[in-house]
Amino acid sequence: MSELTELYKEIAACQRCELAKGRTHTVPGEGPENAEIMFIGEAPGFHEDRQGRPFVGAAGKFLDELLASIGLTREDVYIGNVIKCRPPGNRDPLADEMAACKPFLDKQIELIQPKLIVTLGRFSMARYFPNTKITRIHGQPKRIGGRIYYPMFHPAAALHQPKWRSVVQEDMLKIPQILKEAEGLGEAEPLEQAAQLSLF
Ligand code: SF4
Repeated sequence: MSELTELYKEIAACQRCELAKGRTHTVPGEGPENAEIMFIGEAPGFHEDRQGRPFVGAAGKFLDELLASIGLTREDVYIGNVIKCRPPGNRDPLADEMAACKPFLDKQIELIQPKLIVTLGRFSMARYFPNTKITRIHGQPKRIGGRIYYPMFHPAAALHQPKWRSVVQEDMLKIPQILKEAEGLGEAEPLEQAAQLSLF
């Protein structure tokens, strides 16, 4: 059994926060264990909780369309969330829930070693771009060590507010070039050890 599969089993049994009580399934994430691109969303919604898979509702359908626009399918990338269990009524995740769940996402990144991490929405953005607003920095990649971090709006935001749709589409179209840049970098370093080198 791979380490990632073992991690999924650990997540499925997790009771570290209150969200364990209301879930139908945990949603650990899915995709190739050696994916070059990792998308990180927020938390499972109704459909994700039912199926145990990330981005399977309307926002997931839009994400599939966005991936297709750059010649990718979801089988080519890793898709996960900051939180692995559905918050009741799809409310925002709480700080203590995100803190309790953080070691799982940290471990996923350590195992998969993506060259490019795309954050979808403000909660995953805040891991790498604290104290800023997504309206200010979306579509602007940041290199930290041997990895590039790229903030985008959550696809659900574009569904709720049509004015963001073309913005999300345009930001997605930049990914192939950003990935090329990321592939030219050295080994990815743990975030804590890597100095921020540039904003470009
Ligand atoms: S949200 Fe994360 S920390 Fe909370 S119970 Fe689910 S897997 Fe565990």
